[in-house]
Amino acid sequence: MENWLEKRIALSPDKTAIVTKEDSLTYRELGKRVEIWMRHLATVIEKDSFVGVLVNNSLMGYITILALQQLNCTLVMLNKRLSADELQFQINDTNLKVVIYEDGLLKNKRLTMVNCFSFTAIENLAVTPVAAVADFKDEHVTTLMYTSGTTRKPKGVCQTFRNHFYSAVGSAFNLGLSTDDNWLCVVPLFHISGFSIMMRALLYGMTVTLVNQFDAKAVNKILVENKISAISVVPTMLQQLIINQNLQKYNPKFRFFLLGGGPIDLHLLEICQKRNWPVIQSYGMTETASQVVALNFEDAQQKIGSVGKTLFPVALKIATDGEILLNAPNITPGYYQLPLQNKTSFENGWFKTGDIGYLDKEGFLYLRGRKGDMIISGGENIFPDEIEAVYYNLKDIVQIVVAGVPDSKWGSVPVAFIQTKGMMSKSFLRDYGYQHLAHFKVPHRFYLVSDYPRTASGKIKRQYLSQHKQYFSNELY
Ligand code: ATP
Ligand code: MG
Repeated sequence: MENWLEKRIALSPDKTAIVTKEDSLTYRELGKRVEIWMRHLATVIEKDSFVGVLVNNSLMGYITILALQQLNCTLVMLNKRLSADELQFQINDTNLKVVIYEDGLLKNKRLTMVNCFSFTAIENLAVTPVAAVADFKDEHVTTLMYTSGTTRKPKGVCQTFRNHFYSAVGSAFNLGLSTDDNWLCVVPLFHISGFSIMMRALLYGMTVTLVNQFDAKAVNKILVENKISAISVVPTMLQQLIINQNLQKYNPKFRFFLLGGGPIDLHLLEICQKRNWPVIQSYGMTETASQVVALNFEDAQQKIGSVGKTLFPVALKIATDGEILLNAPNITPGYYQLPLQNKTSFENGWFKTGDIGYLDKEGFLYLRGRKGDMIISGGENIFPDEIEAVYYNLKDIVQIVVAGVPDSKWGSVPVAFIQTKGMMSKSFLRDYGYQHLAHFKVPHRFYLVSDYPRTASGKIKRQYLSQHKQYFSNELY
């Protein structure tokens, strides 16, 4: 395919490409900035090489990503919330020689065996004449993005231009396109949620409004006052937007919230439905370069709890053990240098997601949880999510995470790690469970915890929780 940025500039040079708090650039202006920055970057990096990228949702972060793409680099998208050790793991894993970082993001983080250049340092270097890559080759790995590390250590996912292209196509076929679309990007560019907005923008010719920090009041204000048509959110963001909305109507151009990333509390969805908020639930992962399944709001009422139907280029089937298998052009060609993982994750062209779910008669997908989180107790399969959902109906439960622990009689049994508002007793919680769940699903023990182990993106690491003694010290009686 032709170079996407060049093509986009040729097609719609005067269209607004990007808006930040301080700046607004058309595609032609953005192209110029990218070209200049590409020459600066070429002084410290080689064309076609792997480059670590550590940026904010900022104009210069955006320009850096595009410029490195113009040099045909593979961008290893580093998460700015990682600790120095976590960053070092990813740097060693991909054998990085160079990291380009936005000033301030490596404060107090010492990295070894790699050359790190801040934007300021690069700005002060001489420029190197260099030409942009002519074509974006389908199979070229343009980004290498790590999974969140919810189950184990993060895995490096190779994402090709073809992956991003079909991800954008699938999204457009479902959500539609409008010539004046403007997508608010407050999810990080280093995650697929944010990065996919950038790629869609190049392909669709839409505007991206870039916001670095999520602040619900400020975002609601933007959605009221600016002509934003879409916003991608994770469940906690949606919750905050609801709490901080004073029922002022969003601007008439607003089309939808694209919600994804993790399980959503059904009560929240109900509130959105009552308010007529156009929430589109979606399911996807780093390996699928964004959504593969989405639930449109026309179906949301009837199919509450479902994540929807597969997007156009996606085939989905459920394996005999319930695992969700996918086949689609937006699925990664594989994990970086993980031959064993690649062997177990792909079978006859199907990608094994590690998630368990089922399809109803009309083809709507329902997720039940992760395969590795399933508890097999006395031959029965138990999904923690189902148990947690039941307990969330108790208003004094602030947070509950259920996991399996070894048991001499049953093989494994569910236990719960909880945070509560008031005092609660074990017998009350067990009785409540017996009233609403099959008996084998009722947690055997309840542990009060002050915090939960989380990934850099805030997901709770369930397996880590159930394998570390410190979380078992405060049992309820
Ligand atoms: P790791 O693979 O390292 O354990 P991760 O799977 O959390 O981390 P991501 O790629 O960020 O890394 O997340 C994708 C996962 O998030 C999916 O496989 C699924 O388990 C979960 N997920 C995505 N969307 C939803 C959703 N709508 N509801 C529930 N879970 C979801
Ligand atoms: Mg995963």
